[in-house]
Amino acid sequence: MLVEDYEERRRQSPARFPRHREAAAMNANPGAKSYQLHIRIQKPIVVRIGKLGEFEFPAGFYVYTGSGKRNLDRRLARHLSQSKRFRWHIDYLLSKVGVRVVGYSLFVDFECDVNKTTAGEIVVPRFGATDCRNGCGSHLKFLGAGQDSMEARSEP
Ligand SMILES: [Zn+2]
Repeated sequence: MLVEDYEERRRQSPARFPRHREAAAMNANPGAKSYQLHIRIQKPIVVRIGKLGEFEFPAGFYVYTGSGKRNLDRRLARHLSQSKRFRWHIDYLLSKVGVRVVGYSLFVDFECDVNKTTAGEIVVPRFGATDCRNGCGSHLKFLGAGQDSMEARSEP
C-alpha cells in the first residue's frame, strides 16, 4: 500500500490504521537491507540541507535510497513522522511543505547497489552519502517532473 493511501485511511479511522501498522509490515521482510523512499515535490523549492548548503529542488519525483540492517521499520516510521530532530539529510527535505513521501520499496541488496541501478539526476551532491565509499555521488536522485518517472519505479 502506498504510504499516502495509508495516511489517508489513518486520518479517517485512526484506531484501525495505527502508526505502527506499517512497522509491523516491515517485520515481514526480515531480509531487507535497504529501502527507497519515493518523494514528490509539488513546486520548486529551495531547501537548506544541513551542512551541505542550500539547493533548489525542481518540482517532480525523487527517490532516496537508505540503509538499515536493523530496525528498518522504525527508520521508515521515523521518516514519515513530522515531529523529529533533524539527523539525516532527508529529514531537512521531508520537513518542507509540499514535499511528500508517496511510497516506499524494500530491498535485500545493499544501499549503494540499489542506488547505482536507479537512474536519475543528482541535484544535491553527497546527499545522504557523506559516508558512502562506493562512489555513488548522491543517494537522492531526481527522476523528472512527469508522472511516468514515478510509475516506472513505484512497485513495492
Ligand atoms: Zn552509495
